Amino acid sequence: MLFDIANISRDVIANDCLTKKKVSLHILRLDKVHPVVSGNKLFKLHYFLQDALTYSLPGIITFGGAYSNHLVATAYACKSAGLKCIGLVRGEKPAILSSTLKACMEYDMQLHFLPRAIYAKKDTADFVESFTDKWKKYGWVPEGGYHPKGAAGAALITELIDDSTTHICSALGTVTTLAGLITGAKKHQQVIGIPVLKGMTDIDERVEYLTNKTGTYQLMNEYHFGGYAKKTPALIQFMNNLYKQNNIPTDFVYTAKMMFAVMDNIEKDFFPPGSIITCLHTGGLQGNSSLPAGTLIF
Ligand SMILES: *Cc1c(COP(=O)(O)O)cnc(C)c1O
Repeated sequence: MLFDIANISRDVIANDCLTKKKVSLHILRLDKVHPVVSGNKLFKLHYFLQDALTYSLPGIITFGGAYSNHLVATAYACKSAGLKCIGLVRGEKPAILSSTLKACMEYDMQLHFLPRAIYAKKDTADFVESFTDKWKKYGWVPEGGYHPKGAAGAALITELIDDSTTHICSALGTVTTLAGLITGAKKHQQVIGIPVLKGMTDIDERVEYLTNKTGTYQLMNEYHFGGYAKKTPALIQFMNNLYKQNNIPTDFVYTAKMMFAVMDNIEKDFFPPGSIITCLHTGGLQGNSSLPAGTLIF
């Protein structure tokens, strides 16, 4: 890999419910790759970075909003790989930059703000044409790494998952990580996605675009807690309990909802006895800083 994965560990969760249901639960700590950068984001960038280096491209250009985990991951990854990078940010430049954008600049990302009307056209065919010849030569990475190349990078995560695992679970945003898991999972491994957005209806189409085939996977729906980045007191309590009992910190946008869904389904006998579940801790912990002080015990 083009970044350091030596810190990734696999933690085993223990509690009475797991014992009673005869189910093993492991957490692959991709969050340990970096305190700020989400682990899965770096994997999604792998082949984009490799191509940029192989073909001596001047650098990478990508997109995101002012709080985008993907943007800061790209900034960090490019710096690690010795590549230049440009971030096209949605909206006018604010008077005060978000902590995410400040982090991007610390990793030498060059920021360019695009009015929303222009940003909205970023996936159209002639969008790139409107930029200078110099920029056209960069490697263009879609928002969130949502591209077959991003899914191929995410598939590398499965190399860190033990063959004994029967179920692989991950939170789902753009679906790119899930698509990678579907590609890389062994035949006996069931891939399960937990959508963190409300009412996603195009997951099949996304998987097909990303993997070029129809994939087999399951979804645990209705664990979005009201929608993207929404939360309830029950979710916060769950996060604090998980930390108190198992020393696992989660983020309220992605990984807490995923862990809640998995625990709830263990309780409801979704997983047969003998199941060995591996959950991906994809990171995102820095997002908890937007919660009022004292909300979390970690
Ligand atoms: C982006 C992100 C996800 C979702 O990944 P997708 O590939 O977009 O589905 C999950 N967890 C965290 C922490 C993320 O930052």
